[in-house]
Amino acid sequence: MSRKVDLHTHSTYSDGTLEPEDLIQNAQKQKITHLALSDHDSTGGLAAARNRAKEFDITIIPAVEINTRDNETSAAVHILGYFLEETDINFQKVLTQHREIRAQRAQMIIARLHTMGIKLYLSDFDNGKNEGAVGRPHIADKLKEMGVVFSRQEAFDKYLSQGRPAFVAYENGPTPKDAIDAILSAKGIPVIAHPGYYVSKETILSLAEMGLQGVEVYYPSHSKDLVKTLLGFTAEHKLLATGGSDYHGPGSGHERLGEIAVPEETIDLLLERKYAIHNVN
Ligand SMILES: [Zn+2]
Ligand SMILES: [Zn+2]
Repeated sequence: MSRKVDLHTHSTYSDGTLEPEDLIQNAQKQKITHLALSDHDSTGGLAAARNRAKEFDITIIPAVEINTRDNETSAAVHILGYFLEETDINFQKVLTQHREIRAQRAQMIIARLHTMGIKLYLSDFDNGKNEGAVGRPHIADKLKEMGVVFSRQEAFDKYLSQGRPAFVAYENGPTPKDAIDAILSAKGIPVIAHPGYYVSKETILSLAEMGLQGVEVYYPSHSKDLVKTLLGFTAEHKLLATGGSDYHGPGSGHERLGEIAVPEETIDLLLERKYAIHNVN
């Protein structure tokens, strides 16, 4: 049977709008056979996703996405981790720390909104699922719910994006090296997410020296030319080329589940790489 692969999706365990079960339901509609659930700083949705996926013969790849900031260039770098062992206690401790930093940032954003007369509270968020990790998308959705804006995008454009009045920089967060180390320690494969044109090849190569194993080449906002360039680059440096839709569910603006063609052998290449660097299947 031929495979259909999507290696980048989010659920309500981070900033997606769908429960893992509903995400799987949509993956089934798209005829996806191999799906990575890559929530930000959380592997909490994997159990529910796997449970639902059994009904449809979809293979769930345990994954995570960790947002980091490069100290030297201060560029935002997102690191995906694949086929990791989510039961690793130290790994879970690291993810918990990241979620705490996010919650602190959310608190600061909310404080800024208060100074503008927009009264919302951290306690307004149903954050039982992601254990306190309220991110900007959640705040945006709440602003929409309150009638302050009409959409998530408008909330970002007016208040939450860099340069807007309620923007708070993601400081004290992990560096790319922290994320790579954490993923490797859980026997996962670290891959840089959606580098676009803004992460330089030099940066990617320096991350490869720290243990980065691949680049997310196939991605909604990557042009054909960029994909071609990145494929040449990954081949030259023996990095894996992965890809995914970064699906966040209906209403999120990231809704192209299953629309990004990812070569089916990518799954085998990831597993081979896992064996090569961690000596385990
Ligand atoms: Zn990302
Ligand atoms: Zn993502």
